Amino acid sequence: MLKVLKFGGSSLADANQFKKVAEIIKAEPERRYIVASAPGKRFSADIKVTDMLLECFENSYDKDVSTEIFSKIEKRFEDIISDLGLDFSLKEDFANIKTALINHAGRDFFASRGEFLSAKVLAKYLDYPFIDAGSCIFFNENGSLNTEKTNETIARILSRYDYAVIPGFYGSMPNGTIKTFSRGGSDITGSLVARAVQADLYENWTDVSGLLMVDPRIVENPCKVTEITYRELRELSYMGATVLHEDAIFPVRIANIPINIRNTNAPEDSGTMIVSKAVTDSTEYTITGVAGMKGFTAIYIEKDMMNSEVGFTRRVLETLEEHNICFEHLPSGIDTMSIVLRSADIKDFKGNITADIVKRVNPDSITLLENLALIAVVGRGMIRTAGTASKIFKALADANINIRMIDQGSSELNIIIGVEEKDYKNAIRAIYNKFVNGESK
Ligand code: ASP
Repeated sequence: MLKVLKFGGSSLADANQFKKVAEIIKAEPERRYIVASAPGKRFSADIKVTDMLLECFENSYDKDVSTEIFSKIEKRFEDIISDLGLDFSLKEDFANIKTALINHAGRDFFASRGEFLSAKVLAKYLDYPFIDAGSCIFFNENGSLNTEKTNETIARILSRYDYAVIPGFYGSMPNGTIKTFSRGGSDITGSLVARAVQADLYENWTDVSGLLMVDPRIVENPCKVTEITYRELRELSYMGATVLHEDAIFPVRIANIPINIRNTNAPEDSGTMIVSKAVTDSTEYTITGVAGMKGFTAIYIEKDMMNSEVGFTRRVLETLEEHNICFEHLPSGIDTMSIVLRSADIKDFKGNITADIVKRVNPDSITLLENLALIAVVGRGMIRTAGTASKIFKALADANINIRMIDQGSSELNIIIGVEEKDYKNAIRAIYNKFVNGESK
């Protein structure tokens, strides 16, 4: 049994958190390769080290300001080191970063230093070797990940060590400069390491005890999801549920390695298991989760006999292609179709798009439905449970919410509902309550 663990910023925010992390790691000998984030917030008004580094970089032209910010960063690490009682100094690393600041090294180099320093301290504290991510994670010239080289190099380097700490979030470009993933990217590093060493489990340690069925800012105390498939998670994260960086799923998914979301502050909680094939075909409540997002617009097109007009949809979609716009959903009827788009993508040329569609397909009518919110009701259990859709519609009807659009993915894994933005929260509450508590209020 081999486990790869990633600890997020809140898990490494101060010495006390480092101690919890070490205890978790040492509790099981199979917890062997550790990916560390930069120290995050210690309290809600605190600033993440990554943000401090970026601020420092942005002020690099003003020596006084950048020196002051950098001294705060040094202090955060020095406090952690002294509170852990370590006989260890990062002085040389601090000096190198300051020199890089003077020499105007790139933004990503600075952004990555939080992980670099944090992993060094953790390695020292655990007495494990430190392996720089710059030496084993590689990007291509165009900025995409060089998956094969990365996989092969991590596997080769880590085969020499039983235990190691690796900084998350960054790797190197072909010319040796540092490049980071997008924010939250240490999740991806953990996933890459898990794949390369063929781990049995990727434990992702954070500050929540797993994924919740719905956003806790909308529903108080929602149920936790104990098990979810990669595909279900992808549907929910696409609609805004955040527990893991979206791209972190792919490497472990290829290798069929489950992810376990765990809470550093409550290690006794079993968390959420993300798997390719769930042990149970359905969850307790048929649905696995509900997520949603505001900010959509639907273009609603009507034309008699649309169904027998060859090439109609293609001509409509060509308009979008010409404006370089992706659409999100395309529910259609016999004589109608709707194209759901992100409002932000079309805000400057709504008029041009509708005029263009009129020119191409001459519809009987074309209407813009703005301020739409989409809600995804996701669950692998839907496929074999009759009446899921009617339960959703009943919940919304009871709550007096008008449905503007319905789209069921062909995977039968999710049903997408469009409602007006003003009804967004009530709609989510109504659906959740209907499935979990049997009532819509
Ligand atoms: N420290 C980086 C961030 O704040 C990466 C990470 O924590 O995953 O986004």
